[in-house]
Amino acid sequence: MMAPAHIVVHYHELWLKRGNRRFFLHKLREALRRALDGIAVTRISKPADRLIIEIADAAHVNEALQRLTRVSGISHLAIARVLRRPALNDDPLDTIRAAAWEEIRSEQFASFAVRVRRSDKDFPLNAVAIEREVGGYLFDKLQGEGRDVRVDLKAPALTCRIEITRGPLLVYARRIIGPGGLPPNTAGRLVCLLSGGFDSAVAAYKMMKRGAHLSFVHFWGGGAEAGESSVHVARELVERLVPWQFTAKLYLVPFEPLQREIAAQAPDAFRILLYRRLMLRIAERIALRGGGKGVITGDSLGQVASQTLQNLQAVGAIARLPLYRPLIGDDKLEIQEIARRIGTHDISEQPFHDCCPVFQPKSPALFATAEALDAAEATLDVPSLVDRAIRTLSVLRYRYAQGKAERTDVEHTKAKHTTTS
Ligand code: ATP
Ligand code: MG
Repeated sequence: MMAPAHIVVHYHELWLKRGNRRFFLHKLREALRRALDGIAVTRISKPADRLIIEIADAAHVNEALQRLTRVSGISHLAIARVLRRPALNDDPLDTIRAAAWEEIRSEQFASFAVRVRRSDKDFPLNAVAIEREVGGYLFDKLQGEGRDVRVDLKAPALTCRIEITRGPLLVYARRIIGPGGLPPNTAGRLVCLLSGGFDSAVAAYKMMKRGAHLSFVHFWGGGAEAGESSVHVARELVERLVPWQFTAKLYLVPFEPLQREIAAQAPDAFRILLYRRLMLRIAERIALRGGGKGVITGDSLGQVASQTLQNLQAVGAIARLPLYRPLIGDDKLEIQEIARRIGTHDISEQPFHDCCPVFQPKSPALFATAEALDAAEATLDVPSLVDRAIRTLSVLRYRYAQGKAERTDVEHTKAKHTTTS
């Protein structure tokens, strides 16, 4: 027989958004459903300030948890023990005490508290009474085992939670940390300049985690040999990132013809910065067509020559949309740690042919100005370069369904691009 399992989902930041709470909660529930696509969910209920997901078959609970750790907006999760409802003549505390003890006995902690929430107002005991009773019982049991543990109601190391709902009675203490942030697809659209390196994929993740929905733009060049270009890396990155927002477009822009043009006309030292300006303009064109409200880059202050404050200013001066640089103050090590956590690190680490070193100057300018770049662009027909990029780009579409990332723009796609890791 199939036994159900219950997963409790906590969110905290949504509380700050008083006026928008209903909207955020609606989006969070929608995201939970989409993340669990293909796993039978009996219901999602919402007693007070958390959600309880009932999974029809407990055999799927680990898969479900794994998928839920990629739903932003979740602060933490727990698998709950479900208690039998006490029979009329039983002491309802007996079952609760026993379950609470089972839940915490093998955990290591120096202090604890019991927290009860009762949304079933017909239950014979109130929350405070249950907390006191169960807390006292656990304390005695722990003492009996010679464990040095105190009750701490303010900042307990372990909280044993008891939920008395009209449906199941739940007990849980072991928390699984969620990603935090805000529910997916609640903030609006952005376009992300995705290079294939470590940084821009992490920058993308940070913005998705705050509820933005991204389209990705990748510029590629060179690589006469198959696999030598960076396109496969960009594709794998988008497959890895799409679970955070469920759908994504990847715009692939052939960049070499444009670079050739710039290299032929413009001073050597400014080339990289002019490539960046052109990328930005093209990304903005794509953003403006699709309702995007800004452009994300993986820039991090001082990391490479193009990322001095002067050069960031000189490049960014042509921007019409806001530029978001979520990694600007992060160190490489912090960035790589996030990359490992979200699974983009090993993808970005593969060798690939970066379009920027092509026609790379011997000594790139460290301190350009907007005026100097404007002058360097004077002999270029910038609008027609942007037009050419838009004409020659191709678009790949992805979605995350049934726990897998897949292309949706090709016929007979086999769902082979698994991203569960
Ligand atoms: P990354 O690790 O993201 O490549 P980086 O530190 O190597 O960043 P640069 O190569 O100078 O820095 O690129 C700065 C930013 O410009 C990138 O983070 C990315 O947003 C954008 N960018 C660079 N190259 C490309 C490209 N080929 N396609 C799209 N965006 C790019
Ligand atoms: Mg790079």
